[in-house]
Amino acid sequence: MNVVKRFITYGDADILLVLARSEEGTKDARGLSMFIYDKNNGGVTVRRIENKMGIKGAPTCELVFKNAKAELVGTRRMGLIKYVMSLMNGARLGIMAQSVGLSEAATREAYNYAIERRQFGKAIIEFPAVYEMLSNMRAKTDASRSMLYETCRFVDMYKTLEDISRERKLTPEEKEELKYYSRLADAFTPLGKGMTSEYANQNAYDSIQVHGGSGFMKDYKCERLYRDARITNIYEGTTQLQVVAAIRHVTTGTYLQRIREYEAMPASPELESLKRTLSKMAQMYEKLVEIVTSPKDEEYLDFHARRLVECAGHIIMGHLLLQDANADPEMFRRSAEVYIHYGQTEVIKNYNFVTKSRIEDIAYYKPDLSENA
Ligand SMILES: Cc1cc2nc3c(=O)[nH]c(=O)nc-3n(C[C@H](O)[C@H](O)[C@H](O)COP(=O)(O)OP(=O)(O)OC[C@H]3O[C@@H](n4cnc5c(N)ncnc54)[C@H](O)[C@@H]3O)c2cc1C
Repeated sequence: MNVVKRFITYGDADILLVLARSEEGTKDARGLSMFIYDKNNGGVTVRRIENKMGIKGAPTCELVFKNAKAELVGTRRMGLIKYVMSLMNGARLGIMAQSVGLSEAATREAYNYAIERRQFGKAIIEFPAVYEMLSNMRAKTDASRSMLYETCRFVDMYKTLEDISRERKLTPEEKEELKYYSRLADAFTPLGKGMTSEYANQNAYDSIQVHGGSGFMKDYKCERLYRDARITNIYEGTTQLQVVAAIRHVTTGTYLQRIREYEAMPASPELESLKRTLSKMAQMYEKLVEIVTSPKDEEYLDFHARRLVECAGHIIMGHLLLQDANADPEMFRRSAEVYIHYGQTEVIKNYNFVTKSRIEDIAYYKPDLSENA
C-alpha cells in the first residue's frame, strides 16, 4: 500500500485496520476492501500529530504508507458496506456516550456556577433567562441519556440473538425479533448520534453563556468542554451524514411505527397531558412526512431531511423521557415537561418552515440559482 491517511485516532497503534480500494477501475463503495496491517512488518510512519482545537488527550495522526504490507480481512468488496459500517455503528454509539458525558458535565458546571455567582443582589440562577437555559440543558442531557440507553438496548438485543444463531437455529419468533431489533438499532443509531452530539454542542455553548465572561477564560472547565464537544457532531460521520442514514427510516415509517408503540405504553394520569402533546406532535410529523415525500422529488426531500429527522428525534426522545418520568417521577418529571414543550415548539417551527417556504426563496447558495446571481 502506498498512500497518506489523515485524521487517524491513535494511528501509531500496533495493529491498523485499513479500508482501501482493491478493485481497479471502481469508484463506488463496492470497490473497497478491508485490510489488516501489523506494525512489525514496517512501512507506515506517523508524519505528524494533528494540532487540534479539542480532545487533546487522543492523538490524531497523519499516516504515510510506503510499500506497507497488509492482509485482506474477510471478503473482497465488503470493506465499507459491511465491515466499516458495522464498526462505525459501534463507534457512533461510543460518540453518543461521549456526548452524554459532555452534556452532563456542561450542565453541572453551569448549575454549580449559577448558584454561586451573584449579580444585582441575587444568585444568577434566580433570573428567568438563566434558569431557562439551565432547565433546557438538564432536559436535553436527560433526553440524550435515555436515547443512548434505548439504542444500546436495541443493539444488545439483536447482537445477543445473532450470537445465539451461531450456536443453534433460531425459532421463527426469534428470527422475527432479530429482524425487528436490527432495524431499530439501524434507525436509532444515526438518529441518536445526530441528536445527542448536537445537544452536547448546544449545552457546552450554553454552559459558557451561563458563566458569562468567566466562561471565555481557560480557568473554567466549560471552555474545554466547548472545544471537546465540537468534534462529536463531526467524526464517525457528520450530523448531515447521520441524516442521510436516518432519512430512510422516516420515509419507510420505522420511526413512526416505534412512536405508535410508545403511544401504546402505559403512563400515569399525571402524565396524560404530556402524552397528548406527544400525540399531536406525531400527527404533525406524519403530515410533514407526507408533504415532503409526496412530490417524489429527491432534492426536495434532501433539503428538508434534517427537519424531518429532528422531528422524529424530538418525539422519540420525548416518549423516552415520559417513560422515565413514569418510572421515577421525582427524578424525571420536570425534564420530561421541559423537553416535550421544547420539542413541540421545534416540531411546530419545522412544520411552519416546510409549509410556508419554497426552496427558491431560501437556498441562497443553490448552484443553479447562484449562476444567475
Ligand atoms: C479528531 C479527528 C479524529 C478522527 N479519527 C478518525 C479515525 O480514527 N479514523 C478515520 O478513518 N477517520 C477519522 N477521522 C475522520 C472523520 O471521520 C472525518 O473527518 C469526518 O467523517 C468528516 O469527513 P471529512 O473530514 O472528509 O468531511 P467532508 O466529507 O469533506 O465534509 C465537509 C462538509 O460537507 C458535508 N457533506 C459531505 N458529504 C455530504 C453528503 N453526502 N450529504 C450532506 N452533506 C455532506 C459534511 O456534513 C460537512 O459539513 C477523524 C477526524 C478528526 C477531526
